Amino acid sequence: MLKHLSAIYEDKQILIDEPMKNHTTFKVGGNADFIVFPETKEQLVLTLQLAKKEQIFCIVLGNGSNVLVSDDGIRGIVICTLNMKKIWADKNVITASCGVSMASLSATARENGLSGLEFASGIPGTVGGGIYMNAGAYGGALSDCAQKTLCVTKDGKLITFIGDEQKFGYRKSVFAEQDLIVLETEFLLQEGKGQEISDLMNELNARRRDKQPLDKPSAGSTFKRPEGYFAGKLIEDAGLKGFRVGGACVSEKHAGFVVNDKNGNANDIISVMKHCQDTVLEKFGVKLEPEIRLIGTFPK
Ligand SMILES: Cc1cc2nc3c(=O)[nH]c(=O)nc-3n(C[C@H](O)[C@H](O)[C@H](O)COP(=O)(O)OP(=O)(O)OC[C@H]3O[C@@H](n4cnc5c(N)ncnc54)[C@H](O)[C@@H]3O)c2cc1C
Repeated sequence: MLKHLSAIYEDKQILIDEPMKNHTTFKVGGNADFIVFPETKEQLVLTLQLAKKEQIFCIVLGNGSNVLVSDDGIRGIVICTLNMKKIWADKNVITASCGVSMASLSATARENGLSGLEFASGIPGTVGGGIYMNAGAYGGALSDCAQKTLCVTKDGKLITFIGDEQKFGYRKSVFAEQDLIVLETEFLLQEGKGQEISDLMNELNARRRDKQPLDKPSAGSTFKRPEGYFAGKLIEDAGLKGFRVGGACVSEKHAGFVVNDKNGNANDIISVMKHCQDTVLEKFGVKLEPEIRLIGTFPK
C-alpha cells in the first residue's frame, strides 16, 4: 500500500502506524495504518479510487473534533483534509475548501464585511466536517448560508449539490446520508458592518468560554439534543455531573460534554457515555443519541 500511496504523495504527506490521539480533540484513539494529507482535490480523489480498487477501508477527517476513535485504531487509510485550505471571496459569496477551519471561514467573512457566519467562529472544526454534520451554534447553522457544495463519491465521481439538494437538518446532510466527501462549499452572505460582526463574534466566543470546558480535551456536545429536551440538563438532573470512568468524566462545568481530563482512553469515554444513556433512559425515558461519530470497534 505504501508504494501506491507514494505514487500520489510526497513522503512528508504520509504518516504510517500513527496514533489517532494526535489527530483528535478528545486526544484518544489507537494507531491508524496510514494517514495522508492531500493538498489538492486530485490527490484526495486518487486516494479514494486507490482504496476502492484495493478494497481498503478509508475515512476522511478534518480536525477530528467530532469523533471518538477506538483504542484499536483504524485498519486502513485516514485522509486528513487540513492541508486543503483554499478560500476566496467574490462579492457576497465565500468559497472554501473542505480543510479550511471554521475560524478562518468566519474571519474571512468579517474581513470582507460579510455577516452570517459569526456563530461558526468558535466551532473547532473544518468546513468539510461542518457541512457533513451541519454544524451550528447560538441559533445559526451552516445550512443558513451554504448555497452550493462540490463533493465526490467514494468511487471518485464529482457531484454538485445546490440549495435544498444538500438536505440539511439538525446535524444532518445529504453528505452524511449518502457517505459523500465534501470538497468545497460556497457560502452566500449578507453585507454587514465590520465592527458589529466582530462584536457578535466576541460575544458568542465569550459565552462559549464561560459555559464550556474548553480547557479539557472533548469533542464538544457528546449527545444530540433530544426533541423537547437538552441532553446536558437531563444528564445533570440524573446526578451525573462529574461521573467518572478512568480518565474520562462528565464535565463539572457543562454536563453535555464528556471530557478526557486525566489521560483516559476511548473505552473510558464510551463507558461514561453508555452510563449516561442508560441512566437518562431509566430516569426520564429519554433516549440520548451520540452527536459524535464513533470510528472503529468498541466493546459491547
Ligand atoms: C470544544 C468544542 C466545541 C464544539 N462546539 C460545537 C458547536 O457549537 N456546534 C457544532 O455543531 N459542533 C461543535 N463541536 C463539534 C465539531 O467541532 C463540529 O461537529 C465540526 O463540524 C467537526 O468538524 P471536523 O473537521 O473536526 O470534523 P471531524 O471530527 O474530523 O469529522 C466529523 C465527521 O465528519 C466527517 N468528515 C470530515 N470531513 C469531511 C469531508 N470533507 N467530507 C465528508 N465528511 C467529512 C468525518 O468522517 C466524521 O464522520 C465542538 C467540538 C469541540 C471540541
